[in-house]
Amino acid sequence: MTTKKIRDFLAERRPTPYLVVDLDVVADNYRKLKDAVPQAGIYYAVKANPSPEILSMLARLGSSFDTATVNEIDMALKAGVSGDRISYGNTIKKKDDIAAAFGRGVRLFAFDSEAELAKLSAAAPGAKVFCRILTSGEGADWPLSRKFGCDIEMARELLISAASKGVVPHGVSFHVGSQMKDPNAWEAAVAQAAWLFRECEDAGVQLNMLNIGGGFPTKYRKDIPSMMTYGEAIHASLARHFGNRVPEIIVEPGRQMVGNAGVIDTEVVLVSRKSKKDARRWVYLDIGKFGGLAETMDEAIQYPIVSAKKGGKVERVVLAGPTCDSADVMYEKADYRLPVDLEPGDRLEIRSTGAYTTTYSSVAFNGIDPLKTYCI
Ligand SMILES: *Cc1c(COP(=O)(O)O)cnc(C)c1O
Repeated sequence: MTTKKIRDFLAERRPTPYLVVDLDVVADNYRKLKDAVPQAGIYYAVKANPSPEILSMLARLGSSFDTATVNEIDMALKAGVSGDRISYGNTIKKKDDIAAAFGRGVRLFAFDSEAELAKLSAAAPGAKVFCRILTSGEGADWPLSRKFGCDIEMARELLISAASKGVVPHGVSFHVGSQMKDPNAWEAAVAQAAWLFRECEDAGVQLNMLNIGGGFPTKYRKDIPSMMTYGEAIHASLARHFGNRVPEIIVEPGRQMVGNAGVIDTEVVLVSRKSKKDARRWVYLDIGKFGGLAETMDEAIQYPIVSAKKGGKVERVVLAGPTCDSADVMYEKADYRLPVDLEPGDRLEIRSTGAYTTTYSSVAFNGIDPLKTYCI
């Protein structure tokens, strides 16, 4: 998506590549999420885009923050929230980092294993802990399954044992997978969580919080269901499985909050062919997989790419980045078409790039600077 503010900014033709984010769109996304899941506490996943302007605006709007490292915790604190509005949601933490977070006032921690629970018990006494459960990731363009979470039998044992380890067993979390296109994907995990709540209660452990993660999509090349459709499906699942005893709910949006708010301005460096017989053009940009477009891996996330040259004939292209690495090809199979008169120096807009771009951009591969952000 592009806005007048973004179009005016792009017209000033700064050196590329850079990301420009319209903060009004982020604020609008926050309100849409709030309207769709009014009962939920919003914990913005900092890794999606940690620009200070975004964090402080979300803090002002009332957001809390999901963080994965002490550095991210410090970014959230700097944005103006206190430790009680920060969740340390990474299930893989060093003990010293847990202690540092605890020292900064953070009291909400994720875990998915016995060893992590032991670290929390030693370094964050009295903290509220929640157990992440496995999900299938089916229907997500960028799944987060396998690596995170444990099965519900294990979660049950860990949560029950937490009570005797000096921490407070607070609840259950899951993530259905990022860019989840199926609004009903929360159903199975909510059912499993409700089972865990009942099992723990039977064992004398009262859980209070259900963290339904992120996964809400942003619009790339294809249309997506509205945020309200997701809210209604989730509300129905909660009512179905928790009845009139729905616990405190937390959501952790990343992509939904910032994805469509950003546009990357990039310049064409080279247009070429591999042989006289090969009709397909290779278009090399000044940004690639290592400059921020990592989610083009396996062509999973397909950003809308727009040329200012309108009206003329378009033809299929392969899109590649500028580095000396043959993995730095964004789209080869996906059907991308660009004007036949495209030439070096032309600019392209890579749209819906507000999420998971700057954080993925490398520090100096081939001496290329990290992706710059302008928040307007
Ligand atoms: C990355 C992440 C999120 C955000 O996911 P989106 O799909 O971008 O909404 C939420 N929770 C956790 C634990 C994460 O790691």
